[in-house]
Amino acid sequence: MSTTEETKKFLPVSDADLSGLERKYLMEAFDSGWISGSGPFVTRLEDLFAEYCGATHGVACANGTVALHLALLALGIGPGDEVIVPSLTYVASANAVRYCGANPIFADCDPDTWNASVDTIRPLITEHTRCIMVVHLYGNPVEMDPVLALAREHGLFVLEDAAEAHGAEYRGKRVGSFGDIAAFSFYGNKIMTTGEGGIVLTNDNELAARVKLLRGQGMDPDRRYWFPVIGYNYRLTNLQAAIGVGQFERLHDFIARRREVAAWYREAFSHIADITLQNETPDSHSVWWMSSIRLSDPNLRADIMTALEQIGVETRPLFFPLHMLPPYEGCHAQCPIAENIGLSGINLPSGGHVKEEDVERIVTTVERKLA
Ligand SMILES: *Cc1c(COP(=O)(O)O)cnc(C)c1O
Repeated sequence: MSTTEETKKFLPVSDADLSGLERKYLMEAFDSGWISGSGPFVTRLEDLFAEYCGATHGVACANGTVALHLALLALGIGPGDEVIVPSLTYVASANAVRYCGANPIFADCDPDTWNASVDTIRPLITEHTRCIMVVHLYGNPVEMDPVLALAREHGLFVLEDAAEAHGAEYRGKRVGSFGDIAAFSFYGNKIMTTGEGGIVLTNDNELAARVKLLRGQGMDPDRRYWFPVIGYNYRLTNLQAAIGVGQFERLHDFIARRREVAAWYREAFSHIADITLQNETPDSHSVWWMSSIRLSDPNLRADIMTALEQIGVETRPLFFPLHMLPPYEGCHAQCPIAENIGLSGINLPSGGHVKEEDVERIVTTVERKLA
């Protein structure tokens, strides 16, 4: 194949699929005149998604970052409090803690699941700890039972950052209702999207009421223009929610396709000794938002990414562990495994747009660079 032919077939890391009823619902919302932060599609998306995840309340909001902010505020997290956060995650997980004036304390991850575990979390608990934020990294659920037991033992809240894990299961139950409260993102590259968007889930009536209050400027639901607290405008529009309802109807297929693509990669990489993959445990069922590889030799990463770019394949480096970023440099975290994985990992094209022959040419290219 010539270079021009190869570059024509550019394969992105992720590609939103809006080919279902998203457009029809969006036009329905548009024509109804309900275009702002309330309307029938908002409540429909909230109800559908909460029920799917086994939560009694869903509160849609502007994005996943503010979903985390609202969740932390609802839990009463504030200045002086410590929230345990994995270091290997997207920056929003820790930023939301800082928005509350609290301190993220970074946990290392397990080399197999790439998630923080009870063993990396336990030593970080102090008298200031209020909450454990678990992140189901790249769609792979955290081993929840030991973390929940640890939280109970110390009287801590558990917040799930499930921004990457719509539909992922632990012990047969979907993520989003294991802890006190959970946050999801509907950003354009997530498992399902509303463009920008997010949702908070909880089984707790009081937490749900507080999230709703804070999302809508803090206005008393029973008394117009009476604001008992300082709130935010963190609403999701009915237009975005309409897209989300269309996406939700196809979530099952999106997840099945992602798992299929991940299985192709796993099979194709299985014989390459210098590459390891993120693993499920017997109790976890990942939705593989991202299929990623970890190299034994981090020095080869740039070369491999360039080689893939040359055959028209987009890749991403894994997240920098957050304790290495300038805003969090002063926090003295001990996270050697997160550092190793973060600096030696590559996210590969993941999702329904990836074909089996794409996986084959990606693996062949990587293998050639390792030889
Ligand atoms: C995407 C993401 C977020 C933030 O969601 P946005 O909708 O982009 O604000 C938070 N946490 C994790 C782990 C994410 O991947």
